[in-house]
Amino acid sequence: TVGWGLIGASTIAREWVIDAIRAADGKILSVMSSHFERARKYAAENGIENSTTDLNDLLSNADIDAVYISTTNELHRDQAVAAARAGKHILCEKPLAMSVQDAKAMADAAASAGVVLATNHHLRNSAAHTAIREAVAAGKIGRPLSARVFHAGYLPMHLHGWRLDNPSAGGGAILDLTVHDVDALRYVLGRNPTEVVAFAQSGGMTREGLEDAVMGVIRFEDGVIAQFHDGFTTKFVETGLEVHGTEGSLVGRNVMTQRPVGTVVLRTADGDKNLPVDGSNIYEGVVRTFHAAMNEGSPSATAEDGIWSLATALAVKRAVATGAAVKVETGL
Ligand code: NDP
Repeated sequence: TVGWGLIGASTIAREWVIDAIRAADGKILSVMSSHFERARKYAAENGIENSTTDLNDLLSNADIDAVYISTTNELHRDQAVAAARAGKHILCEKPLAMSVQDAKAMADAAASAGVVLATNHHLRNSAAHTAIREAVAAGKIGRPLSARVFHAGYLPMHLHGWRLDNPSAGGGAILDLTVHDVDALRYVLGRNPTEVVAFAQSGGMTREGLEDAVMGVIRFEDGVIAQFHDGFTTKFVETGLEVHGTEGSLVGRNVMTQRPVGTVVLRTADGDKNLPVDGSNIYEGVVRTFHAAMNEGSPSATAEDGIWSLATALAVKRAVATGAAVKVETGL
């Protein structure tokens, strides 16, 4: 059994990751929060033995093999570096950090400590995304030319907090959602992004100067272009992911989600074919591949994947701020 410590008394852990760890035979031994009472209550409500406000207390527990970091984004770097130095494997939420430099410091700390650092780009464990990736790789749509990601929705009321009013915590739609689009596109296309253009909007939900919606285009290797729409403000629409090639299209509907739902159609001159997608829990897949990577191999999304998605999202932010096309620079 893998012993886990939670860094951050978060909603994502409560709604998804605690159950996923347990379903993958992990045991959660402690939770850390910055507030004593919240830590205690969170532990009690979620059946966790110990709670603490002291990171070193959690990291010095020898039974903890791995930590899950799901605090707000400005805290990830220092917590991940401390966890790596304490010899703990790390599953870290996206965006990995607030700057590429910080994300690299995390990757370096993990590499020198010989621990796994994974990014929670959960969609790599979505059966729908894997079906699209495999169809592209098998040449089912010929040469890929373009892609479209629809990832605008309505931010649930209980998450109306730092995402809407705190730029220094990594608020805004770009660091929240565009990072997932970039990773999903890299996964299905098997290509890296090279440059971006984008426009953003403050449509009434976010504080002035912070975007609650963004649209843009990312150019990938081999000249593939991908359009994305992310936002917190659209109440009445479903998500989607499409890849279009010289011989066909892959049309994923309702697939940019946390739940294992949605459909994928392969459309060619032979007609429409529904690709099989099973309903296995996406976050459980993340934890199972993470557990395996603690022994050998890689987690489904690595630190490098997190650096790519962050660097591209930051390029989108710069494109929005300057109105110019911006090259994606990872330094990898
Ligand atoms: P939350 O706002 O729920 O939690 C973030 C932090 O806010 C917590 O660590 C906690 O601090 C503090 N907090 C939580 N509840 C309260 C409260 N009632 N009052 C005061 N402070 C509170 O954020 P999310 O769970 O939505 O996101 C956390 C991280 O996970 C982010 O990095 C985000 O980008 C990522 N995320 C990833 C998803 C994915 O599918 N991969 C989905 C959703 C989020 P403390 O720990 O100090 O108690």
